[in-house]
Amino acid sequence: MCKHVLNAQVSIRAPCCKQWYDCAECHAEAQSHPLAKTMEMAFICKKCKKAFRKDMSTYEESDEYCPHCDNHYVVEAKTPHAIVGVEGDDARIDSRMLKDERVKGSANKTVVLSAEDDFSDILG
Ligand SMILES: [Zn+2]
Ligand SMILES: [Zn+2]
Ligand SMILES: [Zn+2]
Repeated sequence: MCKHVLNAQVSIRAPCCKQWYDCAECHAEAQSHPLAKTMEMAFICKKCKKAFRKDMSTYEESDEYCPHCDNHYVVEAKTPHAIVGVEGDDARIDSRMLKDERVKGSANKTVVLSAEDDFSDILG
């Protein structure tokens, strides 16, 4: 069970080592190499336990739901550190990206997300 993302709805397969993790922190603790990035991500829904794939380059709102059970798996993470594949390894870069999203007024969602604490920092 992931201790970083308390409300993780999916496991994500690391493209580098083909192992399943709930978040980038879990990967970092188990592996010595950096998490690779990919535009085609593989997930396992924690609700129905079925696997599915998403092309992150064409990802849209309807893709935030498990194709098998409709579980809304893209949620605001209850944890520090943003993550997974699409963004940088550096938490500072992730924070900046999240902040930029807020400024633009777009949805503050990412597959495995950032901490509430981080958000309060960003928002001042
Ligand atoms: Zn790896
Ligand atoms: Zn974790
Ligand atoms: Zn599901």
